Amino acid sequence: MRIELNGEKIRNNFVAKISEISGQNLLACYQCGKCSAGCPLVSEMDILPNQVIRFAQLGLIEELLSCKSIWICASCLTCNTRCPRGVNIAEVMEAIRLILLRKNIDNLKIIELNEKRRVELPQIALVSSFRKKTA
Ligand code: SF4
Ligand code: SF4
Repeated sequence: MRIELNGEKIRNNFVAKISEISGQNLLACYQCGKCSAGCPLVSEMDILPNQVIRFAQLGLIEELLSCKSIWICASCLTCNTRCPRGVNIAEVMEAIRLILLRKNIDNLKIIELNEKRRVELPQIALVSSFRKKTA
């Protein structure tokens, strides 16, 4: 993935917005990777949880808004408990999802799933999806 950085990106409102919604100090992260090492869903993610924080620090808006990881995250909070810097990564994931959901951009439309999928899906997956839509 080719990434272009500049001061404008890093200082833009998007970074401040993520911090404001999540209540997290993104700059506290020093990229130790403990969050990613403990995440049970990391194998399904395209950007690791520590990279999500790093991308947010660097103001990489498009990369964050288009990544799969924010939707794969199950809000299990394992990463939060492992972070030595007290960064609540799950809240950062939620903040990025919220920015999209407030624009009415969603990853999964349950109504569009066929009946077989709706019956077969684990309830926890549906509950998790609803929760992502209601914050
Ligand atoms: S565990 Fe905390 S400090 Fe370490 S990479 Fe993750 S967010 Fe950053
Ligand atoms: S809250 Fe999300 S990012 Fe953190 S460990 Fe759980 S699934 Fe991974």
